[in-house]
Amino acid sequence: MTSALRIALQKSGRLSEDSYQLFKECGIRFDYGTGKLRSVSSNFPAEFLFLRDDDIPGYVEDGVADLGIVGENVAVETGRSVNTIHKLGFSKCRLSIAIPRGTEWSGIQDLTGKSIATSYPTLLGNYLKGAGVNADIHEISGSVEIAPGIGLAEAVCDIVSSGSTLLSNGLQEVETIFRSEAILIANPELDADKQTLVDKLLFRIKAVQAAKNNKYIVLNAPNHAIGQITSLLPGMRSPTVTPLATEGWSSVHSVLNENEFWENIEAIRAAGAEGILVIPIEKMIY
Ligand code: ATP
Ligand code: MG
Repeated sequence: MTSALRIALQKSGRLSEDSYQLFKECGIRFDYGTGKLRSVSSNFPAEFLFLRDDDIPGYVEDGVADLGIVGENVAVETGRSVNTIHKLGFSKCRLSIAIPRGTEWSGIQDLTGKSIATSYPTLLGNYLKGAGVNADIHEISGSVEIAPGIGLAEAVCDIVSSGSTLLSNGLQEVETIFRSEAILIANPELDADKQTLVDKLLFRIKAVQAAKNNKYIVLNAPNHAIGQITSLLPGMRSPTVTPLATEGWSSVHSVLNENEFWENIEAIRAAGAEGILVIPIEKMIY
């Protein structure tokens, strides 16, 4: 019997819901959210640990967990030796420098000799070093945005998604230093049994992600237009074309990247397609 994979997830925060949802969509069931700190899956050889996100890279490096989900920002900041095995596409955000609104800004060199409050001293330090700017980095662990208002620092470097927190604290974003999304990290020395389980999990994750980006398209078209329409709907191998009960008409079924569908929709309609259905796909395996 192979041993179970141990997977570290954020207990509660901006990564949690999407992380839990991802495993659910992969058909891996486990309980969470009842204050539990660990949970064993009922249908996949995996045990889940619920932790603070900052602790996850360390646990994965030490082998306490085999896998973990964290923001790239945290993985890089902690500097732990873990492998990034897959980008997950959620919890997208950026790490940016912001200064009090109304302050003049001509570029990153304006920060020379200034103090900057951040929870990301390594990422900020590397960025400033790369830009040849000497500034004083003031590390604080939370509520970074209030630092300029209370005279603690002249600028901040913090996570931004919509920018509304900055705005409500009288700050303006002036420079993005890092872009982040959730990633799946792994201990670099997994044994063969665990690697087999990781491969199984990755296979499912990729099928879920592919399904999200694609739609199943069904439409009706006059037979003379089929050639043109199928060239606009390439499908996984080629579209399925079946005759309708109405003479001279067919139904065309295909799978298409959603963006590609919207880009081609006018041409598809102009070619004579009618009754177009766009249907979500649950899993997609190439
Ligand atoms: P913990 O209690 O686990 O230490 P935390 O307060 O440090 O949680 P969260 O605010 O839950 O962390 O953010 C976790 C991760 O989610 C961040 O490291 C970042 O990658 C991403 N993130 C943070 N803010 C946002 C946001 N506004 N939008 C999208 N993703 C975000
Ligand atoms: Mg944290």
